[in-house]
Amino acid sequence: MLSGLIVCAECGGRFTISSGNDKNGRYYRCSTNKNRGKQVCGNSRHLNLHRAEQQTLEFLFDRFLNPSLAERSIELYQQRHGNGNPHLAALTNAQQKCQIEMQNLVETIRQAGPMPEFLAAIKSTQDEIDRIEAQIKEEPDDGMEMPTLADAIEEIEYLRSSLQNPDQDVEHKRNILAHLIHRIKIPPRGHGELEYYDPQQHLPMVIAKKDNGLVNNISPGRSGMSGDPEGSRTPVS
Ligand SMILES: [Zn+2]
Repeated sequence: MLSGLIVCAECGGRFTISSGNDKNGRYYRCSTNKNRGKQVCGNSRHLNLHRAEQQTLEFLFDRFLNPSLAERSIELYQQRHGNGNPHLAALTNAQQKCQIEMQNLVETIRQAGPMPEFLAAIKSTQDEIDRIEAQIKEEPDDGMEMPTLADAIEEIEYLRSSLQNPDQDVEHKRNILAHLIHRIKIPPRGHGELEYYDPQQHLPMVIAKKDNGLVNNISPGRSGMSGDPEGSRTPVS
């Protein structure tokens, strides 16, 4: 699923699937290091295949379901995917972001009880949803398809549900993933970087890793160009 999306930070070569000796089986590793030796590329890192795939998807899932990050994430996704009315798409995204906030509020109330401040927040979020709805109705629909946040989440859900069958529909899954991320860059040691695709620039995602794995601590807040906690402040032109 990640073949072709993981690149070696040392030589720029691709990480490809390679068999291991233990029962965990397969790894992603730098093809240059494997085929041409450590004199050509010193990056001998092995990433457990299953863990790398699972944690990449967990990372994306957190990204798209976090209200403060979802909007930026979906913008990039749409730049890759769609060609419809960008203003209408932005409104739709804003509305979907409110709906995620609403779900979070409802869940909070379910657990914490009907606190006045949460009820007030629900009211104002609903007002915002209605306000955006009215704007959407005014917007001319050019009939072009524009993917939504819900589409992105559905795709990630699909990928996640198929993790148990890593060899099924590999090409299809890789194509879906290529819409969601640009690439993952792996150095010989230390953090890897997950980059979104963006025509203007890349947004590096620093991911904490186990020595031999890809990620062991995913924090959707820790991302961005320079430790920017939002990871999404970069203006889109
Ligand atoms: Zn390499």
